[in-house]
Amino acid sequence: MKQKDFKKVVILGSTGSIGISTLKVIARYSEQFKIVGLTAYNNIDILLRQVKNFQPRYVAVPRAGQAKLKAGLNGFLVKILDVNCDLPELVSRREVDIVVIGMRGSEALIPFLSAVRAGKTVAPANKEALVVAGDLLMKEAQKHGAKIIPVDSEQSAIFQCLEGRPHKEIKRVYLTASGGALRKVPQRKFAELTVKEVLNHPRWRMGKKITVDSALLMNKGFEVIEAKRLFQLDVNQIEVVLHPEAIIHSMVGFKDGSVLAQLGVTDMRLPIQYALTYPRRLPTGLKDLNFFELKSLTFERPDIKKFPALSLCLEVAKADGTLPSVLNAADEVAVEAFLDLQISFSRIYPLVEKVVRRHKNCRHPQLNDIRNADLWAREETKRLLN
Ligand code: MG
Repeated sequence: MKQKDFKKVVILGSTGSIGISTLKVIARYSEQFKIVGLTAYNNIDILLRQVKNFQPRYVAVPRAGQAKLKAGLNGFLVKILDVNCDLPELVSRREVDIVVIGMRGSEALIPFLSAVRAGKTVAPANKEALVVAGDLLMKEAQKHGAKIIPVDSEQSAIFQCLEGRPHKEIKRVYLTASGGALRKVPQRKFAELTVKEVLNHPRWRMGKKITVDSALLMNKGFEVIEAKRLFQLDVNQIEVVLHPEAIIHSMVGFKDGSVLAQLGVTDMRLPIQYALTYPRRLPTGLKDLNFFELKSLTFERPDIKKFPALSLCLEVAKADGTLPSVLNAADEVAVEAFLDLQISFSRIYPLVEKVVRRHKNCRHPQLNDIRNADLWAREETKRLLN
């Protein structure tokens, strides 16, 4: 392959679990991909190793981390950017083909928007941006010819099942959930749960925030909103199905009664690689599914009484407007308070619900309304915390 045939990739959040998995995929296909930019908020040591291995032209970190980065680079030539303000310019650069969004939180929204406006292929693992401003992102993507190929395993599964099918043939989408760390823990024990217990996800190794969200089924609720945006679905067309084995990553039911499912091992390298090499399928080096070892796949209805966050999310998904932004911001603050040992696990949901109920929804928000709702919800949650 000639130099110019390389797909040039920027990874936002390269030192998190998605970033690290993305680099593993790229290392395997180093003759097809070239890393142009890496960004991180902390973990400068991991970032330095990545810079030496992948030799990007640009690296973005917070100002406070730039001295340490520079010292560690030892004369290695790379342009250092500020992760807090230079991401929109970085993702829009002419030489960039694909932007992988591994960073968490709604801060991903602005660089995500810049990437779609620049007509890039965007591979988001981040769901917050799609939750708070998915309609805007999808509209802008269409307008500017940008492709959005989801990396979140469930959305990737739906994307793969839908491949080439007209939208009008979709009857419903079955969003599978492994059930998180607390599927078998009785609700009365929630108040005493330690951070470690909540972070003990049975199937996936992920960042802390998303693992707490998974334990609450809040993450699945966010994914309902995400699926609604990505595939232009009505909320009533999305059914959450507990599937503890996490082998089926989601399914699409069509008008004729046929259901297509995407199955695979629980390793994010699979959806990441699919997004990078789309529409081609190349070997991943991952283990094949062994149906004789699996023996059975099981399904349950989610327990809404035990996990009310899921129904709150469905309600928010239907109401839409600025509510998803409020839900997301309140959840970010509340989960952080739990991880900082300020509140018990059982206080996260009531706190988020209270903030959502207090918000005056703006039905057709502009970007500014979304940001104001986000700021309001953060302040309101912090006020209730104190
Ligand atoms: Mg997921």
